[in-house]
Amino acid sequence: MTYVVTELCVDCKYTDCAAVCPVEAFHELTDRLYINAETCIDCDACVPECPVEAIFPDTAVPEEYEHWTAINIEEAPKYPIISMKIPALHGPTCTGPAE
Ligand code: SF4
Ligand code: SF4
Repeated sequence: MTYVVTELCVDCKYTDCAAVCPVEAFHELTDRLYINAETCIDCDACVPECPVEAIFPDTAVPEEYEHWTAINIEEAPKYPIISMKIPALHGPTCTGPAE
């Protein structure tokens, strides 16, 4: 099992999730984060932290975001680890709260 960052994160990138992950499972791209399935211990700590509810356990990813599980698994290891909160990106396609 693993946890999955979905499309809702794109352009928002609040990074509250990365700050609470106990095992540094988040990896940073310019406009989003992904979760490394090899690192994630399924602790659920990140889910309530995300202001746009972008994170799901892979057993409960909404149908429209199902392909994001494979994207996280394949892409996360290619990018650097992020383990702290940084200023939110909150780009044009982010519909979440401003920060
Ligand atoms: S808290 Fe949510 S929006 Fe922010 S980086 Fe994590 S998954 Fe993306
Ligand atoms: S479920 Fe836990 S271990 Fe996995 S990414 Fe979220 S905070 Fe990190």
